Amino acid sequence: MSTKVVYMDNNATTRVAPEVLETMLPYFSDLYGNPSSMHTFGGQVGDALKEAREQIADLVGASADEIIFTSCGTESDSTAILSALQAFPEKRHIVTTRVEHPAVKNLCENIDNLTGHKHKITQLPVDREGMIDLQRYEDSLTDDTAIVSVMWANNETGVIFPIAAMAEIAKSRGILFHTDAVQAVGKIPIDLKKTSSIDFLSVSGHKLHAPKGIGVLYVRRGTPYAPFLIGGHQEHGRRGGTENVASIIGLGKACALAGDRLQEENTRVKAMRDTLENGLLEKISHSMLNGHKTERLPNTTSVSFEFVEGEAILLHLDRFGICASSGSACTSGSLEPSHVLRAMGVPFTAAHGSIRFSLSVYNNEEEVEFILDKLPPIIGNLRELSPFWKGEHPGKVGSSQCKCVC
Ligand code: PLP
Repeated sequence: MSTKVVYMDNNATTRVAPEVLETMLPYFSDLYGNPSSMHTFGGQVGDALKEAREQIADLVGASADEIIFTSCGTESDSTAILSALQAFPEKRHIVTTRVEHPAVKNLCENIDNLTGHKHKITQLPVDREGMIDLQRYEDSLTDDTAIVSVMWANNETGVIFPIAAMAEIAKSRGILFHTDAVQAVGKIPIDLKKTSSIDFLSVSGHKLHAPKGIGVLYVRRGTPYAPFLIGGHQEHGRRGGTENVASIIGLGKACALAGDRLQEENTRVKAMRDTLENGLLEKISHSMLNGHKTERLPNTTSVSFEFVEGEAILLHLDRFGICASSGSACTSGSLEPSHVLRAMGVPFTAAHGSIRFSLSVYNNEEEVEFILDKLPPIIGNLRELSPFWKGEHPGKVGSSQCKCVC
């Protein structure tokens, strides 16, 4: 058992940046006032919240008054979708995709129980590279569509959807547009002043080096809105509940850091990701990339190794302290291939052996080399035990030359 940890599971969660932790600490001790209080002691906390709100708005090109603090990305997603349904009670159609995170997928699938009304849910398919067909999307919109909810970037493959174009199309039809940008914010540039057709956007703190349990919902000024948590006057009556002060301040700092590090994310981190990906695909036969080669987050790679189980690979990697994921963290634990890979039509034998590595600025080249050293023999050994593996052979998998059971 290794004591060293090589953490490459940053789409599941990230470490809290030391600078973020440092910024938060006084709000657990000396600065414990309630930002809603009239006294100066609480008021100074209110000032810090204001600054954090501006830092978050800056990262995504929003105005501070368009930022609502929530408890997580999931709450932000629920709030946006349920809000749109309340704004347009006569409309009963939601358009989304087959590859959404459960925060959107499961909400939509349960929407009739939650609202007491029957809805039609269109889950758009994706192609083999995980991309959406814009014409098909446009054709799916009807006069009955209340909201479109499509993720900016996929948590499993990193595939980036053409969100600006999709939002434009929705807007031209008078339909509200929500994007779950939980995986995109802090990894790719987002400017809501330019992509001005987006009405709602979800953020989660723990994906960008802030703590778990803090999220943001961006609501464009003028967008019809109904709160999800009804209570006090916090967030100008848009989300009840005393603010999670320390985490909000941590998120503000994390957003400022993410802005400063965007360049590094898209150069150094991307280069490490590419070295890892290319190395694995070269060294390990019958391996394939899942997702679009270029329209992808700079930190994410999902690679399938045929004839082995992803869970077995993870266990062996774990012995070397290497943290990765098979599909999304939320779906691991189940032996079913992920709904994302199934929607992409990844062959059965490959979908089962898929591993996602998601890097961050805290990774280094040495760690990449470590994985490139350790993983090929793990796959080789597991394949020797696999009833499906008939040894190395030429020919593409699925072709007539291929003698394996695929
Ligand atoms: N949306 C996406 C794309 C995610 O990857 C996640 C978390 O994995 C969520 C939503 C949920 O975010 P949270 O854990 O903050 O509720």
